[in-house]
Amino acid sequence: MRAVGLHADVVVTVSRAYQTTCTLVRSGGEAFCVDSPVLPDELEVLPAIAEQAGFGIVGLLATHADWDHLLGRYAFPEAPLGCAETTAAFLIGHPGVAQRELRAFDEELYLERPGPLSLPGAQALPVPGQCGIGEQELELHPADGHTQDGMAVWVPWARVLVAGDYLSPVEIPMLSQTGSASGYLATLARLEPLVERAEHVVPGHGAPIDGTRAAAILREDRAYVEALVERGADAKLPLARRSGAQRKVHAANAGRVA
Ligand SMILES: [Zn+2]
Repeated sequence: MRAVGLHADVVVTVSRAYQTTCTLVRSGGEAFCVDSPVLPDELEVLPAIAEQAGFGIVGLLATHADWDHLLGRYAFPEAPLGCAETTAAFLIGHPGVAQRELRAFDEELYLERPGPLSLPGAQALPVPGQCGIGEQELELHPADGHTQDGMAVWVPWARVLVAGDYLSPVEIPMLSQTGSASGYLATLARLEPLVERAEHVVPGHGAPIDGTRAAAILREDRAYVEALVERGADAKLPLARRSGAQRKVHAANAGRVA
């Protein structure tokens, strides 16, 4: 698993599965772990990565309720989980979904975990809003559209945007079962001014990128979602994201907007 330092207070790991990112953010003696790696060995080594970097993890944050972002408790079993009100509501309303999807993934790849995923009641954070960490505040911005829930996290002193499942260099915009194209476009508009100020953007999937590259991806993604609404399956995929897997995502998107 790759680990990249973006700032003295921000370290990002990129999972070998789905290139799911996990962002460690620190202020003073406190650090949060935002989202999670996916594979068991990656989760096992994460506490050592945090410790070596001098990040004392006191809490977990999740950008949204998709299972592949919720595995932090395997690495930090004592840490409480915080998420957007929309995500907390989804987790309460749909108990067991993340566990079921994780189990299906593990069965497919014959993976073993130390135990079942425990997700005790998440703390609902007001979004838009702020979340204190050490002597600083993280800014939380609503980020729905990929799913019906979620938030993006802005780290003001490092000028890092943790975007959740948006602005990915490896994945086209994905409308999940609960997602919506109008929500997606509204989230892109909300993220745009943050991207303009960002030194780095951490997408939910794919290695961190600089603000300029993220702005270019934002324009491509907006064009794609607008075309999807207008032309459905005939919409053109972004040039660098046209693999077989991304075409499957596109076909599912077209089904949702139809
Ligand atoms: Zn995801």
